[in-house]
Amino acid sequence: MQTNLAEFIKNTEQGREADRILRTCVHCGFCNATCPTFQLLGDELDGPRGRIYLIKQVLEGDQPTRKTQLHLDRCLTCINCETTCPSGVEYGKLVDIGRELVDERVERGLFERIQRRALRLVMPYPRRFTPLLRLGQLARPLLPRVLKTKVPPRVAATAWPSTAHKRIMLILEGCVQPAIDPAINAATARVLDRLEISVIRAQGAGCCGALSHHLTAPEEAKVFMRRNIDAWWPHIEAGAEAIVMTASGCGSVVKEYGRILKDDPDYGEKAAKVSELTKDLSEILRDEDISRLKPQKSRRVAFHPPCTLQHGQRVQGVVESILSELGFELAPVTDSHLCCGSAGTYSILQPRLAQQLLNGKLENLQKGEPELIATANIGCLAHLQTKAKVPVVHWVELLDTGRG
Ligand code: SF4
Ligand code: SF4
Repeated sequence: MQTNLAEFIKNTEQGREADRILRTCVHCGFCNATCPTFQLLGDELDGPRGRIYLIKQVLEGDQPTRKTQLHLDRCLTCINCETTCPSGVEYGKLVDIGRELVDERVERGLFERIQRRALRLVMPYPRRFTPLLRLGQLARPLLPRVLKTKVPPRVAATAWPSTAHKRIMLILEGCVQPAIDPAINAATARVLDRLEISVIRAQGAGCCGALSHHLTAPEEAKVFMRRNIDAWWPHIEAGAEAIVMTASGCGSVVKEYGRILKDDPDYGEKAAKVSELTKDLSEILRDEDISRLKPQKSRRVAFHPPCTLQHGQRVQGVVESILSELGFELAPVTDSHLCCGSAGTYSILQPRLAQQLLNGKLENLQKGEPELIATANIGCLAHLQTKAKVPVVHWVELLDTGRG
């Protein structure tokens, strides 16, 4: 694609990156075929090719409008289009640049500004988010059905193993996951303990920065990233061999720390090391002898691979082969490449589209009559749980004795 970037951006780092990406797009439109919002809305501007065109116009100096912003807001950032694109267009990086430029030039309405600000002020901070969630859970029995489904039932915390092993790995606790389902990381610690690996939670680590990053607050996101690097660094120096991610949404962002902070003189190198050490739990277990994790009871499971795992991190089919190897029966799932509609804060900011995607996803997941649905990201888990007819769990819980 030919480009002619405007003066204001031409000679900037952002401009050079956007230009490089735009030039790789040959406008073939293959990506539209797998784009969930294009499938639902049928509008060229709600597909990747149209969005790329909108971003190009802004980079070339056109004034964006509320309509431009809306088409970019409707994008799930699921990156399905990147997996499909034969030219390797890095749509995810481009849409981040496009959203930042558009948000600088188009003011949002008051409600949207309050909503987005509130999300940024509450969700990344467990000390704010957890009490609010607990209040909602207390009031849950009194809530009307439609609201009740939005508040996940309380999940009890479970014990962490106390054995110390030679092999040590860090784990990201994150922000919302410990409040919604504290049992996931505890189950991971127990599973890794059986493989003689100790899992530690570094004091001071927290939100990975994804929420701020996707709500066009890149500097705020970097504050979270630097804080995590500071918390992990002494453990890395002491020999921690990996940083385990149990939420694929967080994993896809932590794997990008190196790129995002590459020009930071104090954090660039450390960020690159952190990204190198970051692994989804499935990548860890893939390389271990997991025969001793075989459960006593096999179950029929429908697995939902989150977009951040299969498209963002390009970890495809790994959880499925681990589950099969351990004797689980995998129910067939049509269109498993499609997003469930959770997508970070998307289900809150774009509820109508998110519900349409959820309905389609659950129909496909439940068609094969599974006993359980398993996934690998807390956002997807909580979203699927709102309407699923069978229990929804994190897949590690199936490997953990006593659960699943
Ligand atoms: S992003 Fe890729 S698939 Fe989509 S129009 Fe451009 S080259 Fe074609
Ligand atoms: S990221 Fe997902 S929703 Fe956005 S354009 Fe690509 S395929 Fe469509």
